[in-house]
Amino acid sequence: MSYITIKQLVKTFNGKEVLKMLDLEIEEGSLTTLLGPSGCGKSTLLRSIAGLHPIDSGEIMIDGKRVDHLSPNARNIGMVFQNYALFPNMTVSENIRFGLDMKKMNKTEAAAKVEKMIELVGLQGKENAYPRQLSGGQQQRVALARALVTEPKVLLLDEPLSALDAQIRKHLQLLLKKVQMELGITMILVTHDQEEAMALSDYVYILNDGYIAQSGVPNDIYKHPESEFIAKFIGNYNVLDERQYEHLFSRPLADARFVAIRPETISAIPETNALELVGDVVSTAMLGSIVRYNVKIGEQIIHVDRLNRSHKQLDTDHQLRLYIKEEDMIKIV
Ligand code: ADP
Ligand code: MG
Repeated sequence: MSYITIKQLVKTFNGKEVLKMLDLEIEEGSLTTLLGPSGCGKSTLLRSIAGLHPIDSGEIMIDGKRVDHLSPNARNIGMVFQNYALFPNMTVSENIRFGLDMKKMNKTEAAAKVEKMIELVGLQGKENAYPRQLSGGQQQRVALARALVTEPKVLLLDEPLSALDAQIRKHLQLLLKKVQMELGITMILVTHDQEEAMALSDYVYILNDGYIAQSGVPNDIYKHPESEFIAKFIGNYNVLDERQYEHLFSRPLADARFVAIRPETISAIPETNALELVGDVVSTAMLGSIVRYNVKIGEQIIHVDRLNRSHKQLDTDHQLRLYIKEEDMIKIV
């Protein structure tokens, strides 16, 4: 049974459909990601769930109860935004305690909860600091603690890590996962970063232009893209249309409109049941743990990825022979 169920959700702004008949099911205690390019409707969906704007039609149920007519406060949902949105004139402790003060919780009980939250997000020693004295990562930890202190059943996070630099983002990704597992809270995370989505999520919904382009567990989406859009958006697939396929392999593409080939499945060692291609390396890109080779074959550039281990690199001085197995060519109809 899903914990959050969304049925046929439609949201328009000025007559333009921004969310087009969305259906989603979200498991209790899971971390679900809404992934998609900028402007596809991620924030609008999150704000609809939170009740921050009215929806046009459809149903939003949480724990078996319709909530789409309830005010935001009555939905028991916490929210974290990209820009922290802390109160500048309050200390860390005061910011975190805010929601408890609103509920008129007694001082001792509130202080104990705030202390627990400070520990959970690793802000010990910063209790009396003001937001301006904190780094971006620390401010986002405060925002997270503030959203969690009232013990919401659902936490919505709208690109919470997008403004942070890579290393701090990685730390906070781990923190989010830890918090989610420790509290068993249901989280919906919005991101446009496919690596972040793949690394953190139990389940992913990929949105494109207001509709769900594909959903599934990260590994399934990665291995079985169902459309050209997904193949290009996820995992840097080589996507070939019929004409490109014919040029490359000198045979027609049957039963599909596109073929998607993952860069890491292309080999430089002859393999059985593999098609051979001959090309020249035109450029290489160091992507950290992998090196990407851009290989020109006829008019087509094919990306080939190798783990970044010096003795296993491809020979870039000569014409390169590449091998692609039939089973690594994913057909998209
Ligand atoms: P994302 O978060 O995926 O980048 P948004 O949900 O913010 O996308 O926006 C989706 C679409 O809805 C965009 O075309 C955006 O311009 C439009 N939109 C969002 N909020 C409003 C609003 N308050 N009024 C009018 N149009 C809006
Ligand atoms: Mg957004």
